[in-house]
Amino acid sequence: MKYEFQPIGIIQSCFKEKFGIPRQSGLIPEAEAILTILPPYNRAEAFRDIEGYSHLWLSFVFHAAIRDQWKPTVRPPRLGGNQRVGVFATRSPFRPNPIGLSVVKLIDLDISAQQIKLKLGGVDLLDGTPVLDIKPYVPYSDAIPDAEAGFAPTPPGREIQLSFSRQAESELQKHSAEQVIQLKRLIYQMLSNNPRPSYLEQEKRNRFGMRLYDFNIIWEVEDDRYLITELSPLSDQPFA
Ligand code: SAM
Repeated sequence: MKYEFQPIGIIQSCFKEKFGIPRQSGLIPEAEAILTILPPYNRAEAFRDIEGYSHLWLSFVFHAAIRDQWKPTVRPPRLGGNQRVGVFATRSPFRPNPIGLSVVKLIDLDISAQQIKLKLGGVDLLDGTPVLDIKPYVPYSDAIPDAEAGFAPTPPGREIQLSFSRQAESELQKHSAEQVIQLKRLIYQMLSNNPRPSYLEQEKRNRFGMRLYDFNIIWEVEDDRYLITELSPLSDQPFA
């Protein structure tokens, strides 16, 4: 048996590379994306009444994690990257069918002419992710407060100290106060979720680069102190 599915839309995310993306949705409310609906699914009536829902389920393709072979066990970053567990006991992108499932906040729905765009918050999605389906999140059925969560019982993340170099601050001054607050919050949340793969932590590497919107961001870390050393725009519209 084989099934073929067409994406109904494509994600344009603040995350331009995998490094630094939170490991689940909802962890970083400031992480925003636009989902642009593709033809023939860009029909206003297909979205009628969706605004009554604050959150949506997205099923999507882990398009940057497609492998010819699958492995029955994976090493979740949550367990330090050393311990193997069954792929079906994880939410790893590397699975027999590379399909992901995320709950995201519906911030806005924009329908104009033939364009349908959904503004989403709390995403854990790479830029360019193809979306297969959208369904409303229904708390009375989907929220299970006393559910058990195996090796991931509590959210990751911790308090950190974050500062910006003079160069980074002066680059940020070129943007609106609102954009700066959002970007700083986003960077704080990303770093407090500790995006470093455990093998680099063991190697004591402390200088990293990541792309966020269209900024290239270089940061250094020592214990729980993080410094944004360089922040440079890669295009004329770094928040696009
Ligand atoms: N919430 C989803 C789920 O449970 O199916 C995704 C969880 S998965 C652990 C999240 C990670 O997938 C992110 O940290 C990022 O590294 C990776 N990721 C996100 N979008 C991707 C894509 N389109 N292709 C490959 N990897 C992706």
